[in-house]
Amino acid sequence: MSCECWLGSGPVHVPSREKPPLLLEEVILASVLRENCSKVVKILRVLAPLTKYRYVKRIKPVVPQLVQGSQASNEDGMMMLEVVVCTIQRREGGGWLSQEDRRNTKGEGEGLWSKVPPSLKAELAPLVKALRVGHVPALAPEDPDQWEDWNQVWPVSYKIPPGKVAKKSATIEVGEDERRKMAAHLGLARDLAHRTHNKGCRNAAVIVNPETNEVVAHGVDETSSSSWGGGEDRTPHPLRHAAMVAVEKVAEGIRAWAAKRKRDSELPQDEPYLCTGSDCYLWREPCAMCAMALVHSRVRRIVFCVPDGERGALGGSFRLHALESLNHHYEVFRWPLDRRVVE
Ligand SMILES: [Zn+2]
Repeated sequence: MSCECWLGSGPVHVPSREKPPLLLEEVILASVLRENCSKVVKILRVLAPLTKYRYVKRIKPVVPQLVQGSQASNEDGMMMLEVVVCTIQRREGGGWLSQEDRRNTKGEGEGLWSKVPPSLKAELAPLVKALRVGHVPALAPEDPDQWEDWNQVWPVSYKIPPGKVAKKSATIEVGEDERRKMAAHLGLARDLAHRTHNKGCRNAAVIVNPETNEVVAHGVDETSSSSWGGGEDRTPHPLRHAAMVAVEKVAEGIRAWAAKRKRDSELPQDEPYLCTGSDCYLWREPCAMCAMALVHSRVRRIVFCVPDGERGALGGSFRLHALESLNHHYEVFRWPLDRRVVE
């Protein structure tokens, strides 16, 4: 079925995890003349190192009008910078007061300076024009998009953790051509599921080679004796869910190919591993067993229509593809049905 009229507005990427929201940490910022900046940073590096907030850049150039109450401005031809001194609440990043500092602190009368350890204040005060409360991102950005957004709040750095690949953006756009292909394969999955619905089938799976757009295998639930037919020599089994059946058919194809290769030395010697690089289209969200089988099969992408809030393993009841310990990860998309369509 090529008509997309039963499908909703488009595929929705189901990220393996939600992006962490932008949380802010309250900090004390010092307005410093550019010429004093390196001295201030040197002092802070020793007396108030940013430990938890290593990704926070210490310095930010200031738009002149933002420096409230500052004596100096660009009018005098002097460039102001803002520097993170310490955090306010959790006393992290060097902002904590030692027992001695606490005893020496004179109280709120001193305004923001009272929140800065006296030893640090003694060094900084001659070099700082003004203090104010500001905010920095409370967590390190996890991907380039977040890095860009969070830099609007305060400059932060983004580093790919050693030994890890860059975390993918939480959303992935699907182009028009890709949408058409997705819709056609979902149409086949839907037809297969509906055609066998009266035999107790709930789900159908279609495995596609995305390079050629060719359907490699498909399967429907074969969990009861009434759910299969067509003269195929298949034994129903409670575990023969649609995705399991489709993966098994791919394996059968590979076995047949391997037997042929024995006879034909011209064929490439590298045997493909199950569904490596393939896409799997399902009518319904797969259960944990099927989702895991598709991990083991090295599927590249899973697309389904009907979510399953009770047993669905790809966003319905939990996100199997969020488990970092898995040795393979696929991308997941859900293409909701048009609201007017009754299943
Ligand atoms: Zn299943």
